[in-house]
Amino acid sequence: MEKKQPHVVCFPCPAQGHINPMMQFAKLLHSRGFFITFVYTDYTHRRQLEPLECLDGFQFEVISDGLPPDAGTMEILQTFRGSFRESCSVTFGELLRKLHNPSDGHVVTCIVSDAFMTFTRKVAEEVGIPDVIFCPMAACGLMAFLNYPELIRRGLAPLRDESYTSKGYLDTTIDWIPGMRDIRLRDLGSFLGSTDLDNFMLNFVANEAQNALKAPMVIFNTFDSLEREVLHGFRSMFPARIYSVGPLLLQRRLLSENVFKSVKLSMWKEEIECLKWLDSHEAASVIYVNFGSTTITTAQQLLEFAWAIADSNHPFLWVIRPDLVKGGQTILPQEFMDRIEGRGMLVSWCPQEEVLAHPSITVFLTHCGWNSTLESISFGVPMICWPFFGDQQTNCRYACNEWGVGMEIDSNAKREEIGVLIKEVVEGEKGKDMKKAALNWKESAEIGIKEGGSSHTNIELLIQELLQLKGN
Ligand code: UDP
Repeated sequence: MEKKQPHVVCFPCPAQGHINPMMQFAKLLHSRGFFITFVYTDYTHRRQLEPLECLDGFQFEVISDGLPPDAGTMEILQTFRGSFRESCSVTFGELLRKLHNPSDGHVVTCIVSDAFMTFTRKVAEEVGIPDVIFCPMAACGLMAFLNYPELIRRGLAPLRDESYTSKGYLDTTIDWIPGMRDIRLRDLGSFLGSTDLDNFMLNFVANEAQNALKAPMVIFNTFDSLEREVLHGFRSMFPARIYSVGPLLLQRRLLSENVFKSVKLSMWKEEIECLKWLDSHEAASVIYVNFGSTTITTAQQLLEFAWAIADSNHPFLWVIRPDLVKGGQTILPQEFMDRIEGRGMLVSWCPQEEVLAHPSITVFLTHCGWNSTLESISFGVPMICWPFFGDQQTNCRYACNEWGVGMEIDSNAKREEIGVLIKEVVEGEKGKDMKKAALNWKESAEIGIKEGGSSHTNIELLIQELLQLKGN
């Protein structure tokens, strides 16, 4: 590394949906001359499939996180708890001291922290390095979490008792959150379903959102025309500079695809044969089903989806992670397998961006993780939404009500209802409107990243600002 080269240390939360967009952002900075240190922890290292290639100006560092070696998918939430933070505060601090040594001319320009890992700010401050926040969620997702304390103060959350989930109470409309119109309590994230004021996640996400906005800069993987009002809300409420620079997956295509196609930090093996299988299908004919890296279903829910998809009579690609079902029962009945023979492909993980970009895909049945939602929008694919937890309810609401690209499945997930929605989206008029809206958003996203577009302009401003930062 040249001593004068700006050096950014990126540290995402160890979850696939956080690593992917941070990696895209790191690649973007690298393509603009920044030296990158990409930090990940034992948890990811144990699951990492291939050794990572270190490229010129892009290095990886693994730090110890104190998580048990057998921590599974849902234990990822443990990474938000005390022991992970305490361990990483020590090991991340040691790493920063190694990398940042002004006396011999090695200076880290700034760290880029995940919005859910704001404990890193204190560490960076101690070493004398500025801290910038990268938000892996949509602006609407962060805005929802940010307002949890106010919802609590107004007595709207937590729920008085469990019965409130079925009383229509969650349909209460909230009209005072900046940039969010006609939003209902149920759209503000799953943690509001808690009846406990001390619920860990309720408090954790609220605190992290508040802390994130104390940074000098907050970077969002979204684009202005998609989330104009919420972004405006942030810009008018906080001194932090808000940079909306997405969709990063499209940025990468323009800026650095050749250099970086090889660097991927994936925790599951992609079954790329599915792309060939898609090649053999007609345009806009295949239903794509994938609930991301953290959703857990019950065995019954899996069956409901299975029969709804089988009964649709459309070809489909369904990604069933080995740990998708609580208790591990991912084997589907022989009767189902016979029924779908020659029409369905089941895999355990896929190259999702390539799948969504494939012309054979007609609809994405998704859990509405922010990356999946943005990827779907970026490739003009309408969605059938089955939000699982966290910010996914908020993304779902925006996809269905604001952007016109989604239809929501009730959380009970009954095969008849799922079947009706599939029919409506794949064959009906509503589906045509959603496809049109999705293609319009795709075009807006592409305009945004081209010269003169909002994300392009924001990236130029952000890079200028990063270049002014200095550690001491
Ligand atoms: N992903 C993938 N292959 C799969 C499933 C998911 O490459 O089979 C990627 C997907 O493209 C996205 C990320 O994993 O970038 C999942 O993030 P998201 O925010 O959608 O959901 P999460 O996994 O965090 O719930």
